[in-house]
Amino acid sequence: LLEVRDLRKHFAVGGGLFGRGRAQLRAIDGLSFSIRPGEILSLVGESGSGKSTVGRTVLRLTAPTEGSIRFKGRDITALSRRQMRPLRRQMQLVFQDPYASLNPRMTVEQIVAAPLAIHGVGATRAERADTVEEALRLVGLLPQHAGRYPHEFSGGQRQRIGIARALVTRPDFVVADEPVSALDVSVQAQVVNLMLELRERLGLTMLVIAHDLAVVGHMSDRVAVMYLGRLVEVAETRALFTAPRHPYTEALLSAAP
Ligand code: ATP
Ligand code: MG
Repeated sequence: LLEVRDLRKHFAVGGGLFGRGRAQLRAIDGLSFSIRPGEILSLVGESGSGKSTVGRTVLRLTAPTEGSIRFKGRDITALSRRQMRPLRRQMQLVFQDPYASLNPRMTVEQIVAAPLAIHGVGATRAERADTVEEALRLVGLLPQHAGRYPHEFSGGQRQRIGIARALVTRPDFVVADEPVSALDVSVQAQVVNLMLELRERLGLTMLVIAHDLAVVGHMSDRVAVMYLGRLVEVAETRALFTAPRHPYTEALLSAAP
């Protein structure tokens, strides 16, 4: 479903007046992987290794510096914002922090419906309300939640709202950037299980960025280990945990509590 080849993303950093002496930060430094339809691939690695940048780049929320990205066989590497628009609804993002990513002044209905407005679907008000209700139901929320505001919900429920927003356009591919790390440990499992259930029901393909290895072990089919902008190892989850091939993976596993 997704094929990434030799991807690079550099940022210009530092430098004085007129950018003199600016350096290139290689956030992604030559990285290749693919995700099969229906698969959950997890991306792990230490803070600053480039995981979120990979997520944003494969969704083409930002342009890569080099390399190629194919989505459903189509080369999306160089598509403009406008050319990406029809594809946007097929690829969505679930954010890390449901406290920061839900507008406190919008109702649940407005939040969940936002991608519909952007994508110009759900022509009438009634249709849009139906679509939102369906998305809420998918994540275990009730139609009567639609008129409430984010602060009336717990962290786990807020993340369900964030997931409903990502699913309202019925995407095929979802990038979830640390979807449970801002949540109470007690509700993390519920949200992880919800995502697994949604994968089954909707046939979703996912790239899950995570640092908690328990979460990774529970939800991924394969795991990609990132270090300094590169992948050092990509393996089936079980194989990675039982027989890591790269010293960095070993270090990561032994550092886990
Ligand atoms: P974390 O686990 O802390 O979320 P990460 O693996 O997601 O880290 P990224 O957020 O992808 O890491 O960042 C990778 C590197 O790229 C970091 O050094 C970061 O400072 C840098 N970076 C990310 N976005 C930008 C940007 N827009 N401009 C400049 N540098 C950036
Ligand atoms: Mg990140």
